[in-house]
Amino acid sequence: MASFPDPKTFQSHAPGYWQDQDPKKWNDWGWQLKNRVTNLRQLEEHLTLSEEERAGVLLSGNKLAMAITPHFFNLIDPTDPDCPIRRQVIPRIEETWDEPYEMADPCGEDSHMPVPGLVHRYPDRVLFLVTDRCASYCRYCTRSRVVSGAGEQHLESDHEAAFRYLEEHTEVRDVLLSGGDPLLFSDAKLERILSRLRSIPHIEFLRIGTRVPVFLPQRITDSLCQMLQKYHPLWMSVHVNHPKELTLEVKEGLERLANHGVPLGNQSVLLRGVNDDVEVMRTLVHKLLMCRVRPYYLYQMDLIRGSAHLRAPVSQGIEIIRGLRGHTTGYGVPQFVIDAPGGGGKVPINPDYVLQRNDERVIIRNYEGKTFEYPEPALQERIKEAPLEPAAQLCGCD
Ligand code: SF4
Repeated sequence: MASFPDPKTFQSHAPGYWQDQDPKKWNDWGWQLKNRVTNLRQLEEHLTLSEEERAGVLLSGNKLAMAITPHFFNLIDPTDPDCPIRRQVIPRIEETWDEPYEMADPCGEDSHMPVPGLVHRYPDRVLFLVTDRCASYCRYCTRSRVVSGAGEQHLESDHEAAFRYLEEHTEVRDVLLSGGDPLLFSDAKLERILSRLRSIPHIEFLRIGTRVPVFLPQRITDSLCQMLQKYHPLWMSVHVNHPKELTLEVKEGLERLANHGVPLGNQSVLLRGVNDDVEVMRTLVHKLLMCRVRPYYLYQMDLIRGSAHLRAPVSQGIEIIRGLRGHTTGYGVPQFVIDAPGGGGKVPINPDYVLQRNDERVIIRNYEGKTFEYPEPALQERIKEAPLEPAAQLCGCD
């Protein structure tokens, strides 16, 4: 392949290694799925693997399968052993090393399932795991215990039982379809699920969590978008970690969804050697805004088994937020969260902008490190009755 393009731009990498492929086939999402890179032989045709990767690939069949769509495989820079795309999808031997604090189900989903495949952890919303298949498999996947079908545990998902549960539970107003990846279903199968959910009067809001627009942009067809727009309000959370993932085809797919009225948010996972860097994240959020996607969450990586080699410290996530907030468009700053281990839900993590707080005042620090004082109502009243001495007046000071 030619030299690798600038990740700040939107470029097509097609057809890359598949030079002889008929463009019509290349653009067919079924062809992309059938021609995924799934074994060592295919990988070694194009890449020189390290010992750690070779051993990881050989063992991946026991845990989380390896599969990489041709589209995504083309984004791997073969000359860079630390390529951020490579780190996300090529297994390494470290995946078989479990640390004592790691868990198979770090978000406690299995213990919050009233019926198979339906996670009801928050009062008014549910997570509906409709499939265990994805277009490509992320090595840090929080559901690697069930996703891909390679491990010992399998996803039990009883759609009919889930619909019945939702019909009875009138407190549920928001359903997030996830998995696996719901956009791997045919339009007809996905529509059956959406229309059934829309027939339940108290369900106000539908969401789809998907990495398909990034792994398999060919799937974002006009017919899919036309079907989705019948079920509004329907929002979509995509999953982009590095600016290189935002190619021309991905941008066009995201724009197609936006043109059909689907509001788009992005969830990134903080990954060591991939996006644990302010400049990388700044480029990512700028490109996302150009694709009409609002950066939504930056996740501290869950304590999933065999993922320590990809985990960055929480302090790095805080530094990234500090480097973005105030320094770029507010819409481009995601919320950094930790999904509390064991099933405590998402907890927002922020740099310390509040230095001090009491009944009378809040001392805050801005993005430049300057401190300011904001009066609470008790102090506002006191000032009205007796203006403060000049020295005690409110000021913006360092
Ligand atoms: S696309 Fe999502 S569910 Fe599938 S492997 Fe990646 S993180 Fe896991």
